[in-house]
Parts: sequence; C-alpha cells; structure tokens
Amino acid sequence: MKTLITLGIFLMLCAIPVHGQNLVAGSDTARSVVHVALGRFKTSLPTWSVVILDEAQWKQWGKTPHSIAAFSVIPGRVTFIRQGYILTHTPDQVVNVLAHEAGHLECNCESEERADELMVQLIDSHL
Ligand SMILES: [Zn+2]
Repeated sequence: MKTLITLGIFLMLCAIPVHGQNLVAGSDTARSVVHVALGRFKTSLPTWSVVILDEAQWKQWGKTPHSIAAFSVIPGRVTFIRQGYILTHTPDQVVNVLAHEAGHLECNCESEERADELMVQLIDSHL
C-alpha cells in the first residue's frame, strides 16, 4: 500500500489538472474518456487524482483489490483505474466506476454501500 501511495505521488508530479482533479497517465483515448467522465461530476473533488494503469501496470498493482475496474488509496486520495476497462466499457460505466471510487474518498470509508450512495449524488445522471 505504501508503494502505491508513492507511485501515486510520483505520477502526480506530471499530472494535468482536469475539472479540479489530476488525471495521470494512460493512452490518449483512455484519457479522453476519463476526461469526459470527470466532466459529468456535479462538483470537483479537491486533491483527488485519477491514475490510468495500462494492462502491465494493472497486473502488477491491481491484483490485490477485489475489482476489475478500479480501486482507490483513500489516504492518498488517488484512484487507479484500469485502461483495459475504460476502453471496453461505455462512458456511463466509466463514470459510475469513477463516481463509486470518489464515493469511497468522500466517506473516507471502504463501505461499498456508502460508496454507491455517494456515487449517485456525485454525478449528473440526466446527461
Ligand atoms: Zn468500492
């Protein structure tokens, strides 16, 4: 976990702010999808960074969390999302994944139910 926080901090050094968040790494296509997804948020979440992991990085870093799409390091306010998921799912699904992860950060908890409740509140569902 400490290594993930270090990785997140390292990647944030080259981050480009997007809608109040930092978006880091990933292919142009994946970054574009995430950029649009972050634009669906009703509010910006300060100090939140989203790091796109390619498949090799996901195999290295994404093994432990029980997720096929994304996981967050809550104390570091960093969400790691899988590029392969972004490129094979709809923009709405990517929005929901990011909003769910943002929900974890907002509640500062690992409760899946609470993250889902906040997910609904964080995004504009009528776009
Ligand atoms: Zn979750």
